[in-house]
Amino acid sequence: MSSSSLQLPVIQNWSCHNCGGCCREHLIEITEEEKRRIDKQGWTAADGIATERPIIQKIGKGRYRLSHQNDGACVFLDDSGLCRIHAKFGEPAKPLACRVYPYAYHPTGEKSLAVSLRFSCPSVVQNLGSAVTDQRIELQKLGNQIVAGKKRDHSAPLIHRNSVHGPQQVNWPDFHRFLKAFDVAFADTSVDFVVRLMRVLSWLELVEQSQFQTIKGDKLNEFLELVTNASVKAQPDNDLPLHRPGRLAKVMFRLLTAQHARHDTEADVRSGLSMRLNLLSAALKYTTGFGTVPVLHGSQSAATAFEDSANTSPEQHRARFAELEGEFNCRTAGIDELFTRYFRVKIQGIHFCGPANFNTTLVEGFHGLALMYPIVLWLARLRAVRNNRSTVSLVDVQTALATADHNFAYSPALGLKSALQRVSLLAKMKQLTSLIGWYSR
Ligand code: SF4
Repeated sequence: MSSSSLQLPVIQNWSCHNCGGCCREHLIEITEEEKRRIDKQGWTAADGIATERPIIQKIGKGRYRLSHQNDGACVFLDDSGLCRIHAKFGEPAKPLACRVYPYAYHPTGEKSLAVSLRFSCPSVVQNLGSAVTDQRIELQKLGNQIVAGKKRDHSAPLIHRNSVHGPQQVNWPDFHRFLKAFDVAFADTSVDFVVRLMRVLSWLELVEQSQFQTIKGDKLNEFLELVTNASVKAQPDNDLPLHRPGRLAKVMFRLLTAQHARHDTEADVRSGLSMRLNLLSAALKYTTGFGTVPVLHGSQSAATAFEDSANTSPEQHRARFAELEGEFNCRTAGIDELFTRYFRVKIQGIHFCGPANFNTTLVEGFHGLALMYPIVLWLARLRAVRNNRSTVSLVDVQTALATADHNFAYSPALGLKSALQRVSLLAKMKQLTSLIGWYSR
């Protein structure tokens, strides 16, 4: 078995707190070998397993998925929120997908992997548990299992594919120079998070206009130092100019936000036509932006962890789109810490571009990541308004981030050409920065 060296995020903690949310929200695909192992475990109704449908479903040639209970939870989840496979046969007996979550591994070279985390897990969002750097031995074992016997593309993601210069490819050491420049920019807490994000987007515009066939190694260091310093000079403090986003940008933004907010469980998918009609009606409302904001299924993990009934309680205020446009005091120290950690983990774990995000370039992938900031704050505003508040709390933002990161870089809808083009268009129209500034208030 080949062993890959690991690059771990240095600012994140995590341990499982048994909320069971991931076992309610994710569809778990298993390998043929895992299917054979689970078949041999001999599960019956006597183990408390629901027997309405087979434990394992075939979803294609050589492809299988764990079945779900009527409420959408994994067939192996028990009433106390624990995994029956884990309880009866131990943690290593579970499917690899379950053992890896909320970690995500991405190649950073021929023999190395970068580790990131999914903020859809409430314990990740809240930074609960032991330092990820203290879990190296277990993470290394999982990493070895992930790469075992798999063919991998060893090249670094493209930097950009500007129509004038063509696709720009660099080697891994140079790719890491870009990541380092991102990370240094976000680690500078002398200004608010939104200012750091604006600075990065401004120097990324220069990156997108440059060719990297000759700008390599030390020259690339000099280039990055030059453009990052220029962005600091252009925006030296927290006094950000504010631009109201245009109408077309708002339509694209609301549609992308709705796609990030959707949480369809297996039970929703089973409901078929009624779910599709609800989605169509919600899409129309998000397009027009008039009236009340339609209810989308929220994150069950977040609902459990934050005792969140925002989508269902009749006492709650039915928020109107217009109510989300005011000032909500979003630039607090706690919210900034959360976004800083989120961005640095995604950057250090290369969890925003390349194979981790529908093969987007570094620039395209970063635009998608940057859009998470206004999307999460819009969803946090929605939660605040539904709870009759006019400022957002840290819990509003944590809940919104857990909801949206479930989909970021994973939802097939966000990998469609139409969705990727919307993100690119918002950046080209300079509306990405308008949205970021507008919803940071
Ligand atoms: S197999 Fe166990 S850990 Fe995996 S989703 Fe089902 S209940 Fe959760």
